[in-house]
Amino acid sequence: MAQVYVALGANLADPISQLDNACKALLSLAPADSFSVSRYYRSAPMGDVEQPDYVNAVAGFKTSLSPIDLLDALQSIENQQGRLRELRWGPRTLDLDLLLYDDQCIDSPRLVVPHYGMRERSFVLVPLSDIAADFILPDGTALSSLLNDALRAELVIAQTP
Ligand code: ATP
Ligand code: MG
Ligand code: MG
Repeated sequence: MAQVYVALGANLADPISQLDNACKALLSLAPADSFSVSRYYRSAPMGDVEQPDYVNAVAGFKTSLSPIDLLDALQSIENQQGRLRELRWGPRTLDLDLLLYDDQCIDSPRLVVPHYGMRERSFVLVPLSDIAADFILPDGTALSSLLNDALRAELVIAQTP
């Protein structure tokens, strides 16, 4: 089975419940004892669209799904939770991005892994470090070397498990 990490984000329709429901759905893809989720963090939206703050988290689990089957499963969970695709980086009930799939590097039209934005995004790096502090990226970069106090200061804890 592959060890995978998924970024969760929501800023509509009770974001904390959206993340709780998404975790239940992700758990159904994984052996229960392999599943962990970070604290939930509140973050400011990216880009220029006026919209509510986000709640973000990262989940880690093992799965026997292939990368593309996992992407299909993530998109089906997004759709079940009412995700519409209108504006780029616009408000959404749920975003599930596949950050890491073992140490694989994938560059296909539908799927790029590691996720292209993860090294710069505080709302990914900080929650990932909650559940995998010693993580080494596929290119050998230590997660801890990408984190700093300024990135941590961008986030406020919204909920602890
Ligand atoms: P961003 O990717 O910058 O966080 P977003 O999450 O809002 O933006 P989406 O609308 O959720 O973008 O996804 C757009 C497309 O990105 C999807 O249809 C999917 O095929 C593609 N994609 C490529 N790599 C990934 C990945 N690692 N995880 C999720 N989607 C991916
Ligand atoms: Mg995203
Ligand atoms: Mg996405």
